[in-house]
Amino acid sequence: MKPLLHAVPQLQTDIPYYVPAGQECALFELAWRKRLPLLLKGPTGCGKTRFVAHMAAKLGLPLHTVSCHDDLTAADLTGRYLLKGGDTVWADGPLTRAVREGGICYLDEIVEARKDVTVVLHPLTDDRRILPLDRTSEELQAPDSFMLVVSYNPGYQTLLKSLKPSTRQRFVAIEFDFLPIDQEIAVVASESGLPDNRVRPLLLLARRLRALKGQDLEEGVSTRLLVYCASLIAAGVSLEEAVTASMIEPLTDDLDVKKALLEVARATL
Ligand code: ADP
Repeated sequence: MKPLLHAVPQLQTDIPYYVPAGQECALFELAWRKRLPLLLKGPTGCGKTRFVAHMAAKLGLPLHTVSCHDDLTAADLTGRYLLKGGDTVWADGPLTRAVREGGICYLDEIVEARKDVTVVLHPLTDDRRILPLDRTSEELQAPDSFMLVVSYNPGYQTLLKSLKPSTRQRFVAIEFDFLPIDQEIAVVASESGLPDNRVRPLLLLARRLRALKGQDLEEGVSTRLLVYCASLIAAGVSLEEAVTASMIEPLTDDLDVKKALLEVARATL
């Protein structure tokens, strides 16, 4: 079993910095008050996880985050019996803990998880809001403060890995994309410490590279990669080295494509 990243609930005292693209903060708060589950969709590195951390802190709720992967089963989320000094003891998984304690349970990249995961989510995502635990013969009723948030990247969808309509139609959904240019510059400058005027050319390059998505590239440059690039430059790395290490190498292994991207970079910067 692979370890579950960030499964320990975090109660944040500082509110993580988040620049909204629209009305998503109000919508999130309303969904929480109305006890509706939320689906966030959008490309990798565009701010979904930061948004959830920001909202959890703003609402004063514990956040239980699970990064889903292709070995993740329902039992990893709900819990299992473990051997402890000759005894068998039940250990709650992160979803069960969130339902018992309340707060936000965030399942990042839900489509990566095994199919049986959706089965445990269904009774939690309708008006029953229950989590049946067959192995302990319990049926947990989610408290009012509990909210289920899941995310996925529609760009990665294949026929094998997609969210079934019967699952996705249980969520209120918000679509995420990269921020408008001035806001994205503000985010990258704030996260990296590089001044706005030095971030702007990186943004212009990122936009040109994003336009190549679907042709030579599977994914465009994310805001996360832009933050990496600007942080390297702020730390004294040369422009070309920083761009190569954070905006070209992470996108492709193909030598010809890399060369072409570097030419685009040299022509833009
Ligand atoms: P995702 O969960 O969509 O893959 P993240 O939330 O991890 O992406 O975002 C990656 C990084 O980009 C964040 O750590 C943060 O530095 C930055 N970021 C992206 N969007 C925003 C935003 N709207 N406000 C603040 N920071 C952002």
